[in-house]
Amino acid sequence: MTSVYRQFSLASARSLNMASNKFIVPPPRIVDREIVKPLLCGPGPCDYHPSVEKVLSKPVLSPICDEFFNVLDDIRAGLQYVFQTRSKLVLAMSGSGHSGMEAVISNLVGPGETLLIASRGIWDQRAFIIANRYGIKTEVVSVPLDVTFSPEQLEPKLKKLRPTALFITHGDSSTGTVQNLQGLGDLCHKYGTLLLVDTVVSLAGVPFFMDEWGIDGVYTSTQKVFSGPAGISPVAFSARAEAKIKSRKHDPPFYFDMKLLAPQWNCYGSTRTYHHTLSPPLFWALRCCLQEIAKETLPVSWARHAATTARFHKRLREYSFEFLIPKPEDRLATVTTVKLPKGYDYQEFVKYMRAKHNILIFAGLGPTVGKALRIGIMGVNSTTQVADSVAEAMADTLRALKKSSL
Ligand code: PMP
Repeated sequence: MTSVYRQFSLASARSLNMASNKFIVPPPRIVDREIVKPLLCGPGPCDYHPSVEKVLSKPVLSPICDEFFNVLDDIRAGLQYVFQTRSKLVLAMSGSGHSGMEAVISNLVGPGETLLIASRGIWDQRAFIIANRYGIKTEVVSVPLDVTFSPEQLEPKLKKLRPTALFITHGDSSTGTVQNLQGLGDLCHKYGTLLLVDTVVSLAGVPFFMDEWGIDGVYTSTQKVFSGPAGISPVAFSARAEAKIKSRKHDPPFYFDMKLLAPQWNCYGSTRTYHHTLSPPLFWALRCCLQEIAKETLPVSWARHAATTARFHKRLREYSFEFLIPKPEDRLATVTTVKLPKGYDYQEFVKYMRAKHNILIFAGLGPTVGKALRIGIMGVNSTTQVADSVAEAMADTLRALKKSSL
């Protein structure tokens, strides 16, 4: 008990008529447990940059003070760099990646309007669920889980439906695929459609050019390639998207409304209004992640991820692992999906990797349940050493489980 608390004895509590018999719930015994931290090689979260760990204990600031305004300005500059956009409407949502997804959809597509969803993994299914909750009309165009979309598959739907927006996932962590987005913005704009993109597990790990590719609404998250804590979701909106926000007839949820958040983030200059309390530790952390990316530079980060994954895949091939995604150009550099030989149990494999090697990888999610392992080697963990350790641990696990599983 600290000295501050000691001043408040049971006697003084009684005198305040707070006798224990008034309480229907007693104070819980919250005990500390030992945690053996694993190497985080699932599709997220990733380990922190050592520098991020340090800034998490920086001083708490009020969200309305000059020091904090500087943090927000630094974050906006860093986000314009990682998204490669000159757009002004760039900020971070207080919430994990799903909050970015909800913000992008609910700000740009109104009830009764149509959202076309290009579906190949679980995140497009989430977009479908979210859009339906907002009364948005949803249309789906699908491909099998182990391939990506070609413009020829999307154009007939865009032409026929002329939807308000198309939703597509860049890097899909449930399937391990990366969608080629070049040319897609122009294709969408030809039919008056906005292009909305999930880059949660791809941004800063693989090339992405928001303005050049004509992307109108995009979000990401901080616990993947950024190597920071979960709980903030950077978003960016194009000039087309801003025009839609200004002219729209509907109100998105208060917490996600860009019309209210832009002034808090001073997106258009000289406005520092209060909308909600931003979390100082999380924003220090995001600022630090962006500082790390700016120091390394995007081309170097993309090249590092490509080289590490090429090495990882080479090692996996040597150990006779089979990839879920047949075409190498469809494989995502941050998350690899691997099929196990017949008779192996995916959950058992994941458990053994943690128990024996203290490496966390995941089994399939959504359409890949029972069909793949998902291994994320990204951010601070995208190194030759991690690639080799994980490949060797996987080979050992395959050997060890052979007898019991078959
Ligand atoms: N999109 C993708 C591609 C993801 O990998 C994830 C999280 N695994 C999400 C969206 C959702 O993000 P969050 O869990 O941070 O809400």
